[in-house]
Amino acid sequence: MFESAEKQGLRFKCTQCGECCRGSPGYVWLSQNDIIAIAGHLNISEESFLETYCIPVSTQYGISYSLKEKEGFACIFLEASSCSIYPVRPVQCRTYPFWDDILKDEKSWNEEAHWCPGIQGEGNVAPEIIKDAIVQGRLNPVWVKGK
Ligand code: SF4
Repeated sequence: MFESAEKQGLRFKCTQCGECCRGSPGYVWLSQNDIIAIAGHLNISEESFLETYCIPVSTQYGISYSLKEKEGFACIFLEASSCSIYPVRPVQCRTYPFWDDILKDEKSWNEEAHWCPGIQGEGNVAPEIIKDAIVQGRLNPVWVKGK
């Protein structure tokens, strides 16, 4: 995390615009905890959840799973501008925009503002909250099938 974020925190307040959930292709990677929580929320088996709502993606580590997209690259769980599984949304969504690669330097953080109107918006997020999001991300690595 870059120094000013570490010391003073960052300006950010989500506007609930939903832009991070649609508009361009991307992966919403799932950790093991995500799969268990979402399947439980939908009251279906984990296998059924993976089959119905996810796509397998081959990575350098093996097969992992990402949420399917609807037309316009919208997340399969996006309804209007709302997340239909909000209480159990994946940790990748829960911790956005406080990801290691976005926080690696100020330039990356400022560039992310092109996608997310919440960045540089009203509100200051304290360093402790940012650090907690980073830890949550690291504690929930992307699940790799069979590992
Ligand atoms: S793009 Fe930013 S402001 Fe819009 S919903 Fe996502 S996090 Fe919130």
